[in-house]
Amino acid sequence: MRPDILNPLFAETDTLDGVGPKLKKPLDRLGLTRLRDVVYHLPERFVTRRAISNLDEAEVGEQVVLALTPTQHLGSTGRGPHRVLAEDATGNVCALVFFGRASYSAKKQLPVGELRWIAGRVDRYGDMLQIVHPDHILERSDASLGRLCEPVYALSEGLTQPRVAGLVEQALARTPQLPEWIEPGLLEKEGWPDWRDALVLAHKGENERARDRLAYDELLANGLALMLVRADNRRRNGLSLQGDGRLRDKLDLPFALTGAQARSIGEIEGDLAQESPMLRLLQGDVGAGKTVVALSAMLIAAEAGAQSAMLAPTEILARQHYETLRRMAAPTGVNIALLTGRDKGRARESTLMGLMDGSIDILVGTHAIFQDSVAYKNLALVVIDEQHRFGVAQRLMLASKGKRAPHTLAMTATPIPRTLTLAQYGELDVSKLDELPPGRQAIDTRVASTGRMEEIVEGVARHLQTGQQAYWVCPMVRESDYATEDIAAAEARFATLKERFGEAVALVHGQLAPEVKDANMQAFVRGDAKLLVATTVIEVGVDVPNATLMVIEQAERFGLAQLHQLRGRVGRGAEKSVCLLLRGDELSETARDRLALMRETQDGFRLAEEDLRLRGGGELLGTRQSGDNAFNVASLEQITRLLPKAHDDARLLIERDGGLTGERGEAARVLLYLFERDYGVQLLRGG
Ligand code: ADP
Ligand code: MG
Repeated sequence: MRPDILNPLFAETDTLDGVGPKLKKPLDRLGLTRLRDVVYHLPERFVTRRAISNLDEAEVGEQVVLALTPTQHLGSTGRGPHRVLAEDATGNVCALVFFGRASYSAKKQLPVGELRWIAGRVDRYGDMLQIVHPDHILERSDASLGRLCEPVYALSEGLTQPRVAGLVEQALARTPQLPEWIEPGLLEKEGWPDWRDALVLAHKGENERARDRLAYDELLANGLALMLVRADNRRRNGLSLQGDGRLRDKLDLPFALTGAQARSIGEIEGDLAQESPMLRLLQGDVGAGKTVVALSAMLIAAEAGAQSAMLAPTEILARQHYETLRRMAAPTGVNIALLTGRDKGRARESTLMGLMDGSIDILVGTHAIFQDSVAYKNLALVVIDEQHRFGVAQRLMLASKGKRAPHTLAMTATPIPRTLTLAQYGELDVSKLDELPPGRQAIDTRVASTGRMEEIVEGVARHLQTGQQAYWVCPMVRESDYATEDIAAAEARFATLKERFGEAVALVHGQLAPEVKDANMQAFVRGDAKLLVATTVIEVGVDVPNATLMVIEQAERFGLAQLHQLRGRVGRGAEKSVCLLLRGDELSETARDRLALMRETQDGFRLAEEDLRLRGGGELLGTRQSGDNAFNVASLEQITRLLPKAHDDARLLIERDGGLTGERGEAARVLLYLFERDYGVQLLRGG
């Protein structure tokens, strides 16, 4: 049970003054559901502003405060922004610019002819100065405007900076002092403030010590949880699985294994023979052939009379794996079943029966396969595909389901640097597929302007005429906020392509009814549909060797790792493949460099490294897609710098203080609950 002292922090945000159903929504969208989340919603940066008396004093790009009088509202035309012309004291005119729903409030806040104090960043657009989405619009030059240094928070639509700052202030006022979990010597050496002070300071201004302390807390919590899970895993022995090769010998693969595949299978076989549960990561670039390695592992389990489960991140992938495995494993006679959240009624019942009586050897599915209602006769191996899509907690919980700890094989196409694997799993063995199957041709990657749409469509037409298939990917502009717009863009593109290609085009995106999505996907896999228009749902794992052209719209909006994943959908057969990156006309320098790099290399590790450098690693950690952040507080730089120490400390604390009992041990429990790594504590109790 959560220590009482944390209760105020776990109160819902609507217990804050001024938060009703209307404000709760945008807060939820930011993941701020409890006070704890609000106090940990640390500023992205701080702005320092200069008060100026007229626009002549403003430098382009500068943060300023000045008095302006609105003179005219220019309503938005179509999808354009709402613009308000405003005058300073000397008669200079600038524009205040609002996109989307912000334009409604702009109309109210900026009546024509009435002076307002505006704070924001001055930009130049054409030959006019403008301020896009001012941070403040006030009737009086209020105290907050005079503040030199002001936090800037991540927002969602419906929130403003002052609103969030006010909520943070309230939440901090209700934040209790907590017992110290950091070792006193370290605290002193680093000059770190105590927990509560660190939070307050981190909201006030740049304060490296405060931020480091908060990051360290998170890393320590993570380290403690991982070690508790690991210790628990070791305590509960697994099942030693010794295959005799009888099923693997019957496999009739159309290719010979690569050296890397054979080596990885050997490593896994060695692990499975042990009683202590395997925890191994199989890393291999897209197309490296991870599936057949997974199948071999599962056949070893079947040879030893045990069951395996393979977890896929999406319904589409689960189905595809099911088909692929069934095809590959047909000569072995093993019984493979599929279970997803969508399976209901009699089919589901019979699968559940088969799992219970042991007649099903291998189960493939989405997270539904680990629901409580799913009971296995003797589950001994869990394979997790594209692991970076799953939250850390989920992975760990799942590995600890059942009396015997199952062996775990996690597979990923994302090259993860060692520190980050350590952060996500603790110590873990790694097998690498560092060799692509032979005969793969380089994918011819080109960059073209969206302006040449007609030519591009004709190029696609010629491609389809040869009997080969193609993907057309529309971008996901932002995570959830604008998802509907993205879907609309994909729908619109689908409509125009359909005019040209008729029934040969199919569409998949996340908001189609599941049956429709499946049916469309299957039509493409079968080859009935020639051109698949999709959002990034096809990013992972889909395997259609006859698809040899990939068109990616607005490629500059994607991360490198993501582009690499997408591109990996082609180049899977013997035919030469082409990847066409469509770009907008106004590209930043970095965007240009990134697209050039895509053209230059097909090395996933190199691209991931560059991505890490350019984007700070969020994508690499998989936080962007999974929505389950391994780390919210610690930055990549802090992880690299502080994680080894935090993990050492966690180990010491657990070893010296066995069950987390002493004074610091009790404090560490509070920490685990604070960061919701309390499954660690629960295991402790169980053991
Ligand atoms: P990924 O590592 O991306 O999951 P897959 O397992 O989907 O890759 O394999 C990609 C393609 O390569 C599949 O069509 C698979 O049949 C094929 N493949 C796998 N191993 C080999 C091999 N040793 N030789 C030739 N083709 C192979
Ligand atoms: Mg795969």
